[in-house]
Amino acid sequence: MKTRNAIGMAFLFTALWMPGCDRASSGDTNPPSKKDEKIARHRKVLILGCDGMDPRMVRRLIDEGRLPTFAKLEKKGGFKPLTTSIPPQSPVAWSNFITGANPGVHGVYDFIHRDLNPKNPNLNVTPRTSTSIDVPPPEPMSEFSLGDYRFSTADINPFAGGAQTTLTRAGTPFWDYLDERGIPVQIYKIPANYPPSESTHGHTCCLAGMGVPDALATHGTYQHFSNEPRAAGTVGGGRRDRITKDFKNGGYIATMHGPPNEYKPASRRTGQPPDLTIELRLYPDPQNPCAKITWVNAGIAANENKEIILNEGEWSDWQDVYFLKTPVGPSLPTMARFYLQQVRPNLKLLVSPLNFIPTNCAATISEPPEFVAEIGEGIGPFYTQGFAESYKARHNNDLSDEEYRAQADLVLDESFKMLDYALERYVDGVLFFYFSSTDLQAHIFWWDSDRPHPFRSPEDAKKYHAVIEQVYERMDEALLKCITALGDDATCIVMSDHGFGNFRRQFGLNSWLRANGYLDSQDDVFYGKTDWSKTRAYGLGINGLYLNQKGRERMGIVEPSDRFALLDEISKKLLDFEDPGEPGSHPIKRVYRGDQIYKGPEAAHAPDLVIGYEREYRASWATCTGYFDSAVMRDNKEAWSADHCVAHDLVPGILLTNRPIAAAAPSLIDVAPTILAEYGIATPESMEGQSFLK
Ligand SMILES: [Zn+2]
Repeated sequence: MKTRNAIGMAFLFTALWMPGCDRASSGDTNPPSKKDEKIARHRKVLILGCDGMDPRMVRRLIDEGRLPTFAKLEKKGGFKPLTTSIPPQSPVAWSNFITGANPGVHGVYDFIHRDLNPKNPNLNVTPRTSTSIDVPPPEPMSEFSLGDYRFSTADINPFAGGAQTTLTRAGTPFWDYLDERGIPVQIYKIPANYPPSESTHGHTCCLAGMGVPDALATHGTYQHFSNEPRAAGTVGGGRRDRITKDFKNGGYIATMHGPPNEYKPASRRTGQPPDLTIELRLYPDPQNPCAKITWVNAGIAANENKEIILNEGEWSDWQDVYFLKTPVGPSLPTMARFYLQQVRPNLKLLVSPLNFIPTNCAATISEPPEFVAEIGEGIGPFYTQGFAESYKARHNNDLSDEEYRAQADLVLDESFKMLDYALERYVDGVLFFYFSSTDLQAHIFWWDSDRPHPFRSPEDAKKYHAVIEQVYERMDEALLKCITALGDDATCIVMSDHGFGNFRRQFGLNSWLRANGYLDSQDDVFYGKTDWSKTRAYGLGINGLYLNQKGRERMGIVEPSDRFALLDEISKKLLDFEDPGEPGSHPIKRVYRGDQIYKGPEAAHAPDLVIGYEREYRASWATCTGYFDSAVMRDNKEAWSADHCVAHDLVPGILLTNRPIAAAAPSLIDVAPTILAEYGIATPESMEGQSFLK
């Protein structure tokens, strides 16, 4: 396991600040800024990664003449479906891409993995995220109190209560083989590489993407303020708070929450210190549909009074928000965008998740650490959190379809700004650039079924499905920019990690296991009332099924010798299962045995079974984190109405390149060996794929 201490490194590198991360061409410590003065010494290879881009939609849009640059590329080289990972989830698929190998090598099997050694001895297993883990801070060498505050030698951890994050993705990323040969690699927003792996020889620049947390150390928590009479509290991925009338000064007061303040003692009730907070003041204009928002950024050189005025329906630019930890500092630097949703009859304000300030980043999200600051200096602030689109606010109905679309377009516009920057500084070597829009707009807006949409009218379903087509057209625009900048001699690869489809019906795997006598639990498999002495199997993650195995799970009961017979029994029953709501339909198309599909040093951590759903089906929302549904089969009535976590052969990604494709059935694990082959590097032993080019 390759590990790296993200927070500690951030601190170290702030102290040893070294400006000038331009590793564009070997030996250039001070490259000329004008493009025509740059001399390319290495082959040029571009990889445009469009998450979730679906080959069927690309084919149709090329045929309709709506993707002219894609069409040109296809004519010159080729366009094919790209075999995706099992299961076809982004962290798994991008890890296959990064390492050129199967999950048995890189150890990423799902968004959610199992922790076999939970701290609480009464728990058997608990869920954890798959690509990184948080390690508790070291015990402080000394500690003292001052009034309400607690100071210690562990205070060097600048965010989120001192937790330190470690990359758990194993395997060797392809760029390491280029790095050691002096070939420059520039990577923008790659998933499944947070904290970023180290560049030993200094020829790799990498900005981490999906997997980077917000400043609350979550995968994006927005805050919604309103004076409407509704319950305050947390909702999945967000918190709702009431604003109170400020009788003295007029307007309203809202309290914005940051991460727990590690300078305060933990409360006995929650086990956590109280949150850092900032007071916002909101002044709706008495006549016009606009409002003023003010707050104070304390603890920086001088207290800064912030004031913004927004019209109804307007997003602010990025605004710095500094949370003061003690009266004498330090402050946690964050930034947010404010959205004035409504002024009357109720005042409604949505604040984006707190992001890191690229030029003053509280966590290490790039390699080298100063790379993120250089991008920030070049293009201004941008979303640093991995999931930038506010899909959680849409999911919770705190944003409408139209509002989500507008916010997601802001993210796409930012990506274009970053692409311009990347092309401007690029000289030669490998350039990887990632777009999330093709995935996160599709999760909300994709619907190509004749059946009615769970809640959109047929007209709206059609209208918003067309939004994805427009996003694809913008990918064509992005490709044109790249080709224009890199020239005709560059090898260009446009690829996606998986395709897309409707998500209409949800299968409650844990409810099914319980109904079939494999799981004895009442409410919450991992933290609730589960009788592990009577539990033989449990579902965890979007596609994973695990046995409660003796000698592996802490309270395991299944004898290893009985393992395969039990797995075959469960597999057969799952494949035979019919959707009672739609007789004749089988929700599960394939059940993969972990020991048969995964090979490598990390194979022991694999799920025992991976469930490959049929089109339009997916694991239920409840099952992914160990909960139960009221029925095994239910409609999916969420705004998240499309997905790709099905049998892998149903949702291949795309491969489009200006070079002839030799392989009959290219696969994600072939991309890394192809890139290396462009530099005359033979496929290393750590990789399983092979170059797909002639
Ligand atoms: Zn994906």
